[in-house]
Amino acid sequence: MNNAPKSHGRLSISATAEPRELMTDRPDLDQAWKAKIITLFPDAFPGVLGESLTGKALQDGLWQLETIDLRIFGDTKHRNVDDTPAGGGAGMVLRPDVVGKAMDFASKGTSPDRDKWPIVYMSPRGKPLTQEMAATFSQSEGITILCGRFEGLDERVIDHFGMREVSIGDFVLTGGEIAAQALIDATVRLIPRVLGNQASTEDESFSDFLLEHPQYTKPAVWKGREIPEVLLSGHHGKIADWRRDMAERLTKERRPDLWRAYCAKYNRDPGEDQEL
Ligand code: SAH
Repeated sequence: MNNAPKSHGRLSISATAEPRELMTDRPDLDQAWKAKIITLFPDAFPGVLGESLTGKALQDGLWQLETIDLRIFGDTKHRNVDDTPAGGGAGMVLRPDVVGKAMDFASKGTSPDRDKWPIVYMSPRGKPLTQEMAATFSQSEGITILCGRFEGLDERVIDHFGMREVSIGDFVLTGGEIAAQALIDATVRLIPRVLGNQASTEDESFSDFLLEHPQYTKPAVWKGREIPEVLLSGHHGKIADWRRDMAERLTKERRPDLWRAYCAKYNRDPGEDQEL
């Protein structure tokens, strides 16, 4: 029965009465943070999440991914999942009965406590995804994410399941799959041991309201452009000061909203004039 690749780490397998097509292709991993994705396009996963550090962590069993094909829950002969909007208008809306069945299926084995197991609907109307949100999600046991399509989802499903709507920006995508992958990427890299060097998440952009300072690497001179001298000085104190100065300058120039939050936190005067 255990036909999973060995690289998947510690496994705990339980028998299931579900039809084969509803099953995840990976057995449950002990303790691993888990993302359950309800989508009409399960083949879009793991997508880019299967590459590099998130892909390695998936292989190593530091997190787990289960896709649930929404189409399977369509109940007519043609497995329809959508219908015309009540009140008229263009496009189609995902049906509550169909999505509801997929949600019930996804809820198996998950905590009913929404802090331990958030349920997210990717949506341009949602709260903007932030680093802080990703950090909170990374502390949970797992997450269920519904990827919308067409004109979106019947509002009653959102209310019934206490879904959080999360947006990845003020633009409209054709579906929630890319948005879900952005959310999962941002979250998974905060799970301990996913990034080789944990320290690297601590002074990144958005930690402490600042954007990151500029980075440089070899060669020391490239097309006549030099690496700032201080970075080659070996003087750790001066390097830290320079990095903070640059981070503050960039934040003030580019993100007045973050700059104000930073100044409020450290009792500093944000200044009227924005350097441009
Ligand atoms: N009619 C909707 C847009 C539907 S777009 C509206 O105007 O609000 C189709 C699906 O793509 C959505 O259901 C959602 O799941 C996803 N989507 C589109 N833009 C998104 C964004 N900025 N962030 C997260 N998900 C998005």
